[in-house]
Amino acid sequence: MELLNHDVLIVGGGGAGLRAAIAIGEANADLSVGVVSKVYPMRSHTVSAEGGSAAVIKSNDSLDAHIYDTISGADWLADQDAVESFVNEAPAEMIQLEHWGCPWSRDADGSVAVRPFGGMKIERTWFAADKTGFHMLHTLFQTALKYNNITRYDEWFVTRLLTHDGRCQGVAALELRTGQIRPIAAKAVILCTGGGGRIFPFTTNAAIKSGDGMALAYRAGVALKDMEFVQYHPTGLPGTGILITEASRGEGGILLNKDGYRYLQDYDLGEPLDVSDPSHPRKRTMELGPRDRLSQAFMKEREKGLTLEGPYGDYVCLDLRHMGEKKIDKKIPFVRELCRNYVGIDPVHELVPVRPVVHYMMGGVHTNINGETPLAGLFAAGECACVSINGANRLGSNSLTELLVFGARAARAAVRFSARQDSVAVEEIQAQCQAEQQRIRDRFFQPKGGKETIAGLRAELTRTMESGAGIYRTEDSLRAACALIGQLKERFREVELADHSLTFNTELTAALELEFMIDASEAVAHSALMRTESRGSHQRTDYPQRDDERFLKHSLAYQTENDPRIEYLDVVVTRWPPAERKYGSPVDGKGGKGD
Ligand SMILES: Cc1cc2nc3c(=O)[nH]c(=O)nc-3n(C[C@H](O)[C@H](O)[C@H](O)COP(=O)(O)OP(=O)(O)OC[C@H]3O[C@@H](n4cnc5c(N)ncnc54)[C@H](O)[C@@H]3O)c2cc1C
Repeated sequence: MELLNHDVLIVGGGGAGLRAAIAIGEANADLSVGVVSKVYPMRSHTVSAEGGSAAVIKSNDSLDAHIYDTISGADWLADQDAVESFVNEAPAEMIQLEHWGCPWSRDADGSVAVRPFGGMKIERTWFAADKTGFHMLHTLFQTALKYNNITRYDEWFVTRLLTHDGRCQGVAALELRTGQIRPIAAKAVILCTGGGGRIFPFTTNAAIKSGDGMALAYRAGVALKDMEFVQYHPTGLPGTGILITEASRGEGGILLNKDGYRYLQDYDLGEPLDVSDPSHPRKRTMELGPRDRLSQAFMKEREKGLTLEGPYGDYVCLDLRHMGEKKIDKKIPFVRELCRNYVGIDPVHELVPVRPVVHYMMGGVHTNINGETPLAGLFAAGECACVSINGANRLGSNSLTELLVFGARAARAAVRFSARQDSVAVEEIQAQCQAEQQRIRDRFFQPKGGKETIAGLRAELTRTMESGAGIYRTEDSLRAACALIGQLKERFREVELADHSLTFNTELTAALELEFMIDASEAVAHSALMRTESRGSHQRTDYPQRDDERFLKHSLAYQTENDPRIEYLDVVVTRWPPAERKYGSPVDGKGGKGD
């Protein structure tokens, strides 16, 4: 078995993976870098990000204000040292992206334009119309092409991390074109595999977002951190789950219930009590409140019978009509395109049906501020990682910037680590890869006589996650979800593939993805069961209060033979002691007591 070998191997060709690859080239162009991606890199989910990427740039903004918004938006579960590094390094990363060719939208005076975004109390979200991720990923991709030391493994699917002597030394990857499982050795491996929204039935996430990297790390003994925190975005198109970006609300869109009433005015979205203060940049947050609160408000409207019923479930309406055709076409043209193509509605003249949709996972592979996991040689960055800057609720537009800042940080740490390693244990790596090939053959290609299908198990899994671990959770719903996930793990052993071909066997990749999804779901449901409080996106109706005494802590889920073991880790607090979550609180370091 031929061994492919690199100094640093990156799993994932999205925003985080490509930023990491470039950072290694910047650090030392002689290092050999591999980038493995199960899809062609430009098809990574980053390409579909619409609204924008946050960083302080305008003179009326401040780094402390961005830090504070992120920490309070996270309901104080973010590590404050990580947030500080993130915010401090963000502007330089964004400017550098411009120098690499990213066409940021401009104000009339030629300066970079910024738009409001949910939970950010001031406009600081850079954008490229409403195709921000598309332009960012193109920019990173074309920049990565400049480095001759980067070898790409496009359409290779990583199935296992290879570890020896307490160190991650490579991966086993299925070359989709040939069906061969090949070992790729590396002195350091960086997981940049994105999120896992597909564990829920209704999601904005691309079909490839099945939590692979999270499950790979989990199986290798690394904890998954804060997995109970799953973000619902308040405005997805019913049916498809296609995202209607927060920029549509940032640019002036409002949400209406079935009576045409702007219902958010009746909800506490964490805004300042004194809304009459004329000096405050925005009097009411309303549609620009944080995503968790807006999604919860939808559920309350539904309980009151104030939502509309459609073929794909209940919904409310997004009204953009007052913005006018010119502004819609200039600022959010993609929103108009999506509405016309997918629901046959022109938002210039009609209301757009929307409902909360699973969008993002705040949790992920446990790393420190440099992207290092507790397993030597293994690093993680981007949505698959939990550093953590997003805590219990990510603020919109922080994620794209996170890919840049922490993609680069993880890469630099991996370069330092690989410089200290002499070699990899070639024979052990090859033997483990052979064992992995055998495992996959035995598991999927041997007759089992079972009746389980991939589609059937996946539908049960996603339905269970929605009913058991959705926007609102209870002990009963979570226990039921945990029990079913346990059964699905067993039943998965009975899955047998009809397609035994070696060339682009999509049935095999679907099975491998489902296996990853079950592991990620297990960590979500069990972590949620153990957290008997409500915080950010994790709302327990049986424990409605935030409980800082017991739960100002990150959860860490470890895989065991049976149910996962859940441990806790203190949150890092630097300058902002936990306070009630109020929008527009002071940034003077005294916490949120001033409004
Ligand atoms: C519709 C949508 C709109 C969004 N809009 C915004 C926005 O406006 N602003 C914002 O800040 N955030 C936004 N987000 C969130 C943000 O886009 C994502 O969190 C971010 O792009 C994730 O980037 P990533 O590099 O971590 O992963 P991805 O871009 O998802 O890339 C993952 C990579 O890993 C590879 N991979 C995965 N598993 C395997 C495997 N087993 N083997 C080999 N390769 C593998 C994939 O091929 C891919 O290359 C949006 C998300 C969605 C879904």
